[in-house]
Amino acid sequence: MRFMRFEQQGQIGLAVDAGEGWRGRFVDEGDVLTDVSAIAASDELARKALVQHLREGFVVDADQVRCLPPSANPGKIICLGLNYRDHAREFDSPPPAYPTLFARFASSLIGHAQPLVRPRVSDKFDYEGELVLILGRGGKHIAQEDALDHVFGYSVFNDGSIRDYQLRTSQWTVGKNFDGTGAFGPWVVTADELPPGATGLTLETRLNGEVMQHASTSDMIFGVAQTLAIISEGMTLDAGDVIVMGTPSGVGYGRKPPVYMKPGDVCEVSIERIATLRNTVVQEA
Ligand code: MG
Repeated sequence: MRFMRFEQQGQIGLAVDAGEGWRGRFVDEGDVLTDVSAIAASDELARKALVQHLREGFVVDADQVRCLPPSANPGKIICLGLNYRDHAREFDSPPPAYPTLFARFASSLIGHAQPLVRPRVSDKFDYEGELVLILGRGGKHIAQEDALDHVFGYSVFNDGSIRDYQLRTSQWTVGKNFDGTGAFGPWVVTADELPPGATGLTLETRLNGEVMQHASTSDMIFGVAQTLAIISEGMTLDAGDVIVMGTPSGVGYGRKPPVYMKPGDVCEVSIERIATLRNTVVQEA
């Protein structure tokens, strides 16, 4: 099953594709939950009722509506850095023994087909194609062997990075949180439709049609289950939280000469069996 959050003529809606195409409703129509994190966090009965309600809604043309980030304001957006060996090497880093974790905030998110924003203050705007998951169940001290039962679904993310700001200090927060840099979507595919932990899927990033990143999600150093076990050693994870799983090699920073995104560029991130996330770069006014 797939879930999408969208805007049409100024109204925000949710849509589901349960195998017969997209059907949805606007979120101000009574009991419809507001975003995919809220759906993920609802109990099974409520979720079933919602799915039925959406399936009885209007036909949604995914190419005509404006896709929004599936989660509007998740409690946490936790990202992994350096989670593929070849990518760690691009940054002259050894493969980490513990995941490099950093936070993103919802203010940096955009949806599919919304503009990636190259900021006024930097021309070092880089792409990072990534797998992202939404939790359906939270917990503390989640056991690795049970961790995949906590995942609601998976989507595609472009962890757009302002490299000079990212690397000014050892803390990446600013360089990873410029407005309009975190592309997320277009939709969420429920975990039951994908291999456990979304492993073995081809991830590809293309810039203006040229393949820049090509890897398998099986190449992640810390897989989904191990990541959830490690993070929840310290903090309670909540249903609806978003975890962004890191990028493979081929980023612009690691190229000689470096390749950065410019206004007018089109960046696409595809993950097999999930979706293609496509965004055009614009310059901040
Ligand atoms: Mg990243």
